[in-house]
Amino acid sequence: SVVTRFAPSPTGFLHIGGARTALFNWLYARGRGGRFLLRIEDTDRARSTPEATEAILKGLDWLGLDHDGEVVSQYERADRHAEVARELLAKGAAYKCFSSQEEISAFREKAKEEGRSTLFQSPWRDADPATHPDAPYVIRLRTPMEGETVIEDEVQGRVTIRNDQLDDMILLRSDGSPVYMLAVVVDDHDMGVTHVIRGDDHLNNAARQMGIYTAMGWDLPVYAHIPLIHGPDGKKLSKRHGALGVDEYQKLGYPSAGMRNYLARLGWSHGDDEFFTDAQATEWFDLSGIGKSPARFDFKKLENLCGQQIAVADDAALLHEIEAYLAASGQPALSEGQKDGLLRGMYCLKDRAKTLPQLLEKAEFVLTSSPIEPDEKAAKALDPVSRGILAALTPQLQNASWSREKLEETMAEFADAQGTKFGKLAGPLRAALAGRSVTPSVFDMMLVLGKEESLLRIRQAAS
Ligand code: GLU
Repeated sequence: SVVTRFAPSPTGFLHIGGARTALFNWLYARGRGGRFLLRIEDTDRARSTPEATEAILKGLDWLGLDHDGEVVSQYERADRHAEVARELLAKGAAYKCFSSQEEISAFREKAKEEGRSTLFQSPWRDADPATHPDAPYVIRLRTPMEGETVIEDEVQGRVTIRNDQLDDMILLRSDGSPVYMLAVVVDDHDMGVTHVIRGDDHLNNAARQMGIYTAMGWDLPVYAHIPLIHGPDGKKLSKRHGALGVDEYQKLGYPSAGMRNYLARLGWSHGDDEFFTDAQATEWFDLSGIGKSPARFDFKKLENLCGQQIAVADDAALLHEIEAYLAASGQPALSEGQKDGLLRGMYCLKDRAKTLPQLLEKAEFVLTSSPIEPDEKAAKALDPVSRGILAALTPQLQNASWSREKLEETMAEFADAQGTKFGKLAGPLRAALAGRSVTPSVFDMMLVLGKEESLLRIRQAAS
């Protein structure tokens, strides 16, 4: 069965490219009843930090990309990596190399002068072990000198690399520490990874990694090297163009479902479908839908998809997401009353809000308690004439039963009696109920606020 993995290096935040790689691996596994594993590639001790690991875990959590099993630390598996290097040595697939840094440099210089390949060829490759000195050594992989290595990549197609372009890479350093390339292969093998989906900046590594698989007689994984993400101008992704940590997107109030939807579309397509649910994405996602050229990051598209996801979101889940957004962006938490109000109003607030802050702006009327402080525009709508009209309307509303039909009927009758149109009443009512001009409809606000609170606000504005 399918096993995928996400293998970030904890040297910074979880950026948008990494998040997309994680999503692709997650979708691929989840759509096939497989497992999605997480490995932290923390072998670079100088650059790896626990804070970065924490940020990556939090980012994945926010995106809803749950992994199976324990988080694997690559560094903690160093003994196992060294063990494999020694196994290769014992098999004769690797050898001890005693060449010093100076000897290697001298080799290169000479090769350059003579116009030959400067790839280091160790004199120890075929040396008799009886002649080995008692000195520090590295373990190198004995790479075939002829023929070629062929990567059958699910995205890039067939990629061929001549073996004489690959040197005998070091597997184990002279201090006994394993190199990164060996660690990746051993971990992927031991974790049972069947599909390696990652950025195409790792394509060249694949050729070297395949050498280790072959030498160990292990099954190769399926490779899918995905093109990087570019900015809208087609250039390398910059901060301004979206190269932010995913936590920044959460702080900006993009809902995670919208983020997932957009990231899935970033470099992968399913016909003309732009908007889809997680279930659809999981069902549809396939390596054959991944494009060969770099995807371009597009904030407009991200926002549109976020808006559509908000519109169909489950109310309770959306409330939960809003609370997480407020906490992440350092804003005060909601009171119980505010949560109730939001839930009552969600049906109309979800409409046409592309981000959570936009939704909250529309929700202002239900989040603030009376008395309402009208903003400048709303204050203008509450001129003496309008206040008189509101005063006259109050007893009519007092007698109305609080349903949409009855309220519409009452308002229409009142407007008729006043010799005006409902449209003329809407401005002052909006100002009275919300104190601002970007709000849901007057009827929705009255229904969400309820009779008592609505009448209180209208009376306060009229007086
Ligand atoms: N740790 C590598 C990175 O963060 C990924 C290695 C891999 O996926 O094989 O780029």
